[in-house]
Amino acid sequence: MGWVSTFEAQPESWVKKVTITRQAGDWYMSFFVEITPEITPKYRERIGVDLGINNWATCSDGTQFSNPKAYKAATKKLARLQRHLSRKVKGSKNWAKCLLKVQKLHQRVANIRRDTIHKITTFLAKNHSQVVIEDLNVSGMLKNHCLAGSIADASFYEFRRQLGDKAERYGSKLMIADRFYPSSQLCSNCGHRQKMPLVRRTFECPNCGLAIDRDLNASINLECETFRSEIRLQCLK
Ligand SMILES: [Zn+2]
Repeated sequence: MGWVSTFEAQPESWVKKVTITRQAGDWYMSFFVEITPEITPKYRERIGVDLGINNWATCSDGTQFSNPKAYKAATKKLARLQRHLSRKVKGSKNWAKCLLKVQKLHQRVANIRRDTIHKITTFLAKNHSQVVIEDLNVSGMLKNHCLAGSIADASFYEFRRQLGDKAERYGSKLMIADRFYPSSQLCSNCGHRQKMPLVRRTFECPNCGLAIDRDLNASINLECETFRSEIRLQCLK
């Protein structure tokens, strides 16, 4: 193959394996390297994270990560291009041209998504000793039945995979809440349980009067999951 020039510098550590792939007309090179874990100082013992579609992640300390503007713009454009493609004669030159454009934009959407997930998971794993997330993105799956739903699904698994890797790398612990744990139905203040249809964005507790954003409430519940009994005891005292 000879010499190849790359956009980015090669990793400094010993490269064990190189994979070259072609996606949507572009070439990519990935390096397999071994790294030693780098334990970072932690600013908070434990954080709960609720995953969604518009708000990618709502954390129990109030931090929110929402849809980047570039992502919204790219998905809109992708929908338009796909309509154009469907009107072209299959197999024609114009169709092939349009198809490549669609593939490139698909790639861009996926790249922005992966990049956003990288930023969130790095923040979580670097700064917290324990990160608690849901077992399955149940609420996300119910919110949408179409394309957005399947994207959310894929994002959830990508999120979990990256977080697992980074937890190891930065010396934190990833904890998965029980899949039947009703994080969105419980009051994060008193533990009162009520049905929470998806249209209700605020959790209003008839028992203690708490009114709190639905996702934030769920994330606090995830943070407190195994501590709940201890918290109840403190309330009784
Ligand atoms: Zn309450």
